[in-house]
Amino acid sequence: MLSSLDELIREAELAHGHLCAGQILGVRLAMFGLSKLGIDDPRGKDRKRLVTFVEIDRCATDAIAVVTGCRLGKRALKFRDWGKMAATFVDLAAKLPNHTDVILSGAATSRSEVAAQSKDPYSLNSTQAHQGILSNNLNAPAPGPSDHLYRAIRVAARESSKQRARELHPEIENKNQQQMLAYRELSDDDLFSTEWVKVELLPEEFPGYKSDRITCARCGEGINFHRELFRDGQILCRSCAGETYYEIL
Ligand SMILES: [Zn+2]
Ligand SMILES: [Zn+2]
Repeated sequence: MLSSLDELIREAELAHGHLCAGQILGVRLAMFGLSKLGIDDPRGKDRKRLVTFVEIDRCATDAIAVVTGCRLGKRALKFRDWGKMAATFVDLAAKLPNHTDVILSGAATSRSEVAAQSKDPYSLNSTQAHQGILSNNLNAPAPGPSDHLYRAIRVAARESSKQRARELHPEIENKNQQQMLAYRELSDDDLFSTEWVKVELLPEEFPGYKSDRITCARCGEGINFHRELFRDGQILCRSCAGETYYEIL
């Protein structure tokens, strides 16, 4: 069972280092997203069912990691640096059928539907893995409808939530205190907007994915998870291919 709001806020405070409005908002956001998916034990029996995308690296992000059990180091937490207070909770048990397969075969046994019935969503066949390698390695556009789509719920904090906090507790001058109390009390619908979405998750994005390490032809460093690029007939790491965030001093 998912712990109570108070228990999760306490855990988030410990993990994050302090209690703040962001912790409470993050805990509420994650609890709301999980409830929409019907996932009530994300750190126990449902732990292989969830991948979470976060769109900001602020206080609330830590709380979302605590509630979901999705961590960067487990590859279950994906960071998209969009500066938005939002997260998308991907249900790995809800693989969506490949639209083309359904139309062509007219049968209910497309490859993706068979995969959706698999007990362990982490176990991927070699064909799926191979497709992932090809699409990433060659930097090709996605070849038609994807065979790797999963149902997900995206939850975004409403811009009006700070104003709602002011209205609810005008007697509290300290903004953080005001929001900490209000974010406990306001309804999910007051705090968040949601949308059902589909997310493409290639085999190499899965937490349990195993791959050989590829060596960069220029710097000689190893590369995991097919993050290498082909440039001028060479296999290069992102840095050597020019996508670098640092320069050698
Ligand atoms: Zn904080
Ligand atoms: Zn390199």
